[in-house]
Amino acid sequence: MKFHQAEALILSVTDLQEADRIVEFLTRDLGKRRGVARGAKRRYSRFAGELQPLARARIEWFEKERRDLVRISAVELSRAPKALTADLESILLGAYLAEQGAVFAQEGEPAELLFRLLDTTVEELERGADRDLAARYVETWVLRLAGIFPAPSECPECARPLRGGAALAASGEALLCQTCGGAAATQVSAGAIELLRRIARESLRQLAERPPERIALGEVASIAGRVRRHFLQHELKSYVVLERTLASLKESR
Ligand SMILES: [Zn+2]
Repeated sequence: MKFHQAEALILSVTDLQEADRIVEFLTRDLGKRRGVARGAKRRYSRFAGELQPLARARIEWFEKERRDLVRISAVELSRAPKALTADLESILLGAYLAEQGAVFAQEGEPAELLFRLLDTTVEELERGADRDLAARYVETWVLRLAGIFPAPSECPECARPLRGGAALAASGEALLCQTCGGAAATQVSAGAIELLRRIARESLRQLAERPPERIALGEVASIAGRVRRHFLQHELKSYVVLERTLASLKESR
């Protein structure tokens, strides 16, 4: 049995049985871990109220070799994700950002960049960053860190520059030039290409200082979504819920 402690981001919390919960969390050095937190549901438990997605906490746990689940012995909250618990929309956004971390992080592999991406995004949201911009920033970077969505510079097939616009292959796999994309490809505007390039080199705060146009944000959302679905072969559960809810909120306004 090996003891560990690390600063972690909570990715998900699910009820196990009685008072116990399964907590999935992300660490810088050991990547993703899943563990049982006993008594976590009890009202006055030491875990109570601390386990929201993207909360930052110091976690202590024990690991047994060849065991999937670790045993969590303590969780000490260091930052509650207040901006991600304010209302329904922000709770769903938190779940969506966290699920991307959970799906793309590997167990036992260092995840310094992914940790930093999620951590600084939560900090920026606490400072009032635009939710839409934060969502596009994270989904683009998660794909980039996974090595499946480089910043667009030239067509991977003919090396023509993509600056003036591009085409998303019908398979959803890559951004090509409009000629290589063919008739079935989706046209991508120069504005969306510029935004993807800015996301690659600017921080979320820098982006917010010179906010991109809504239309480019919408395009990037659909491009990143298609690239991710092509790679995972399914949609993220939290994204489906988020989109549905946003659509019905819009209708009722
Ligand atoms: Zn080309």
